Amino acid sequence: MERVKEKKQDPVLRRCNFQEVSLGYTEDEAVAEAGRCLQCKKPPCVKGCPVGIDIPAFIAEIRKRDHDSALAKIYEKNMLPSICGRVCPQETQCEAACVLGRRGSPVAIGKLERFAGDRTVYTPGCSSHGLAKTGKVAVIGAGPAGLTCACELAKCGVRVTIYEALHVAGGVLVYGIPEFRLPKRVVEREIRLLEKLGVEIKTDIIAGRTITIEDIFKAGYAAAFIGSGAGLPSFMGIPGENLLRVYSANEFLTRVNLMKGYLFPEYDTPVSIGAKVAVIGGGNVAMDSARAALRLGAKHVTVLYRRTEKEMPARAEEYENAREEGIGFRFLVQPIEIVGDGQGYVRGIKIVHNRLGDPDESGRRSPVAIEGTEEFIGIESVIVAIGQNPSPLIPSTYKKLATGRKGNIIVNKDTCETNVPGIFAGGDVATGAATVISAMGMGKTAARSIVRYLATKNQSSDSPPPGKAADVNS
Ligand code: FAD
Ligand code: SF4
Ligand code: SF4
Repeated sequence: MERVKEKKQDPVLRRCNFQEVSLGYTEDEAVAEAGRCLQCKKPPCVKGCPVGIDIPAFIAEIRKRDHDSALAKIYEKNMLPSICGRVCPQETQCEAACVLGRRGSPVAIGKLERFAGDRTVYTPGCSSHGLAKTGKVAVIGAGPAGLTCACELAKCGVRVTIYEALHVAGGVLVYGIPEFRLPKRVVEREIRLLEKLGVEIKTDIIAGRTITIEDIFKAGYAAAFIGSGAGLPSFMGIPGENLLRVYSANEFLTRVNLMKGYLFPEYDTPVSIGAKVAVIGGGNVAMDSARAALRLGAKHVTVLYRRTEKEMPARAEEYENAREEGIGFRFLVQPIEIVGDGQGYVRGIKIVHNRLGDPDESGRRSPVAIEGTEEFIGIESVIVAIGQNPSPLIPSTYKKLATGRKGNIIVNKDTCETNVPGIFAGGDVATGAATVISAMGMGKTAARSIVRYLATKNQSSDSPPPGKAADVNS
């Protein structure tokens, strides 16, 4: 049986609006797709999911049209199903492991998860183990890592407060990923559910500025989890990057999403891009930037990527959507200069053509510039989407934390412990820019470690204060 195709907004219409592109399954479509699952006895798909959802079990409930039970099964492991169902790179995770993939198309696990998450109103309960007495926990950052850690702690009965720098919770889910891919009402709904579990979220508080890590422990928190993400954009380091209308993807998408630039003039956030836009990069961030620029009214949007289509890290589905909408792609090219118009604005970009050389440390073949192939392209704005680095504020203001070469907080990957006892970290701040589900997986691992840490601390009154123990990282 063929995989049930999900309906999408027509490309001609959707390139002019910010409404969600993918329309999700109807009930009959979801039940039909659920019917394809073989209910494997030893399901490999579960191993492909970083949070270990019992995939055949929830799919079996959809098949019976018992969607509350399907959602209850998912909630056992994942409190953000409507979000993950939309943005998880399923094709390289759970669906990559599905046995049906070997014979044709894997079961559409993500789309079924989205269906269950969107459809049902169901509130999970807390399973208090009396841990509340052992102390409260502070979580820094309300992105997928922090939210998941907080939720898992709350489910165990631990009192938890999230400190978030921005005025809303969600991290990249609200400031990065655009409305047409992940509607903000969906994020809000799933976060409200976490609050029902007893998680307290305090916004507009920047750890390292408004409060310090020392303040957190002085305020009586027994442990802290840092999930501050990778919000520091990388630049190319070429001439002209300081011209007007050169944006980092972070700034561009924050203006469009968080500051509601897409609703200008209703919201007072003009985003000036002109008619011809170049986007540099080949990941999800580049696809989101290009598609957002198109919807803001750009006539021509071209993605410039230094390798080939095969090496592009963007999700296949989002690349296909971008192509359908008319985004142009040029592969094996690399900017060498952004050229100004003499008034401070961008007039064009100089590129050079590449060939593929030997594999680099990421395992992908590295781009090598071909001499004498320089070319000028006339454009009016440039969006640089070549990667983000871990947010540096906390490690730079709390120097006891061990950090890696790229400024990431070093953690024990099995426990998410940092070198400072009582401080745990996970998500992009530890791994560098990664995925929603990997950040959630680390949030979960950290919560388990914190629960163990609290239990041990409770038993022994002489546990070391933060900052006094040896570095546990290798
Ligand atoms: P974040 O989501 O970055 O959250 C960190 C939070 O901490 C933020 O809310 C931030 O404001 C807050 N914070 C930072 N510093 C402080 C401080 N000092 N004090 C208090 N709070 C602080 N992944 C996918 O799986 N699929 C996708 O399709 C996808 N698309 C993406 C598109 C874009 C445009 C971007 C930028 C990323 C995308 N990703 C995608 C990656 C994914 O969003 C991230 O890997 C994930 O959000 C990381 O979660 P996190 O909780 O570690 O960090
Ligand atoms: Fe797959 Fe992501 Fe859902 Fe896990 S959370 S089952 S990886 S879509
Ligand atoms: Fe179903 Fe595929 Fe998982 Fe088997 S591997 S249980 S067919 S989703």
